[in-house]
Amino acid sequence: MTGIQLGGIKVGPVIGAATDPNFVPAGAPIGQIGSDPGDPDDPWSAAAPPGGVIVQTPGPSAGPNATGTLRVPVPKNVPTGPRRVAIQAGHWKSDETPDELRRLIPQTGAEWEGVTEVEINLDVAQRIGVILNSKGIVVDILPTTIPVGYVADAFVALHADSDGVGVNSGFKMAHGARRGPYEDALLNDIKDSFGAATRLEYDGTHITSAMRGYFAFNWSRYQHALAAHTPAVILEMGYLSNDDDRALMLDKPDVLASAIADGVLKFLNDTPRSKIFGQDLVVPAFPSRPSRQSPSP
Ligand SMILES: [Zn+2]
Repeated sequence: MTGIQLGGIKVGPVIGAATDPNFVPAGAPIGQIGSDPGDPDDPWSAAAPPGGVIVQTPGPSAGPNATGTLRVPVPKNVPTGPRRVAIQAGHWKSDETPDELRRLIPQTGAEWEGVTEVEINLDVAQRIGVILNSKGIVVDILPTTIPVGYVADAFVALHADSDGVGVNSGFKMAHGARRGPYEDALLNDIKDSFGAATRLEYDGTHITSAMRGYFAFNWSRYQHALAAHTPAVILEMGYLSNDDDRALMLDKPDVLASAIADGVLKFLNDTPRSKIFGQDLVVPAFPSRPSRQSPSP
């Protein structure tokens, strides 16, 4: 691997990820095709995330269908001091995305009877920020664009939905694949507190591949994505298109915000930073890219 040229990574005398012969530096292709299980028609050329990745190919005894693993090193910029949480206001400033995310520019979010999703997302996000700040937690309110390789103790993307006809009601949640092991816990903590406080039903039947494959989770496709270690979920808080859901989101944003904050606080209490960032992540590789099987120069 020509790591020095591609990523400016310094390969020093220290034993570490960058000295591994299979280390691929930030942004360089890893010779694999990424795809979401629910959306196989939209594959991408998987690339190393900002901290690089180690491609571990299966041994000869692993069988013809084995694809190996990817080892994602612990981020170098793990925060110190207070816990740090990001709340993303879905679709906020979607027109300011970088080139790699330009397909998101026209995705301005749901709208119903003059109410836009983004105004609700931003309002609730800011209220969550106030609550968490009062508990000594540092909060980043993020727009559509995620800082490159963003690292935090938790990330929640806020959205509101529309079914186009006004029938569906309830909230939905998802997290990505090939990420850290604490995302189920974050999801369940928020799901419990949000469901109890809002009395909305959990709409498990309409969770989409677009939620599971949310761009912010997708570190093998975008540099402007969350570090794989950052525990991350997306929350569709309700349906703008439903009269009751919309009234709740418009009239009781503090109820939503404190419920989400409670879930985040429970997660942080149960999950120390030393566990979240304690070790490299090992996740399944993607299928290899057939046309690029030639060995490295
Ligand atoms: Zn949305």
